[in-house]
Amino acid sequence: MKYLIFIITSMLIHLTVNAQNMDEWHDGSAIELKGKIYILSVFITTPGKTWTYDEKTDLLTSQFKAQDWLKQQAKLYGADISFENGFYGLKSDIVVDEIKSIKELYEARQDWVYQVLTKIGYSSPLEFLERLKNTKDCANALVIIYANQSGRSYAVPYSTGRNKEKYFFEGCTVYRKDTYYQYTCGATIAHEILHLFGAWDLYKRDKTDKERAKKADALFHNDIMIGGTCDLESLKITRLTAWLVGLWKYKEDVFEELRPRNHPSE
Ligand SMILES: [Zn+2]
Repeated sequence: MKYLIFIITSMLIHLTVNAQNMDEWHDGSAIELKGKIYILSVFITTPGKTWTYDEKTDLLTSQFKAQDWLKQQAKLYGADISFENGFYGLKSDIVVDEIKSIKELYEARQDWVYQVLTKIGYSSPLEFLERLKNTKDCANALVIIYANQSGRSYAVPYSTGRNKEKYFFEGCTVYRKDTYYQYTCGATIAHEILHLFGAWDLYKRDKTDKERAKKADALFHNDIMIGGTCDLESLKITRLTAWLVGLWKYKEDVFEELRPRNHPSE
């Protein structure tokens, strides 16, 4: 009997250990959608292109909608999350030489967080992150770089082994307007935040990706990582995305079939 209990216990431990998402993307400053999450919002613009306070706070309103939605969704999985917010460049402009309006991911600048934080005056963004985590008592932190430009918003999640000083403090670049010149909405901001916690894109990324996207839509309909709408109320964090961001422990075989070929996200 004792032996049987030992076997069952070992099996359970084995299942739990192997069930959680522990891949190399499950690393960086935004690890799990749990507890208190610190979000630093930074507004950048280019020379001669001023950005009004109202335009910036419009984006923050969308960000707060995204945060509320993330809280509601996490609650459905039994997790209580909260946010604390910090800001740079809200009342005065942070000016950088150039912001590219990207349409394809390979054009995306990867090191905005490092560039912008050093411009503000932090010699080591990594040390700044550690101090932030200690003083704010938050397990997770991330940066949203708002760019006074139109373009395709994207996230730069950290994966184990990358240059820590440059990429460990994870961030996303959110353009003021999308490639159709529409103002960026809360659903896009929530989508990018989830990438930093490890979520995958579930829509068709290129021609060869059709079957994967079809399967994702059939199995995890309305997942926010499929996207396609600004209507947050119609979107969900389904089991797959919940597993990737640490809200759900139980891995299903089909999850791996939906892993993007190369994980870098947008
Ligand atoms: Zn994406």
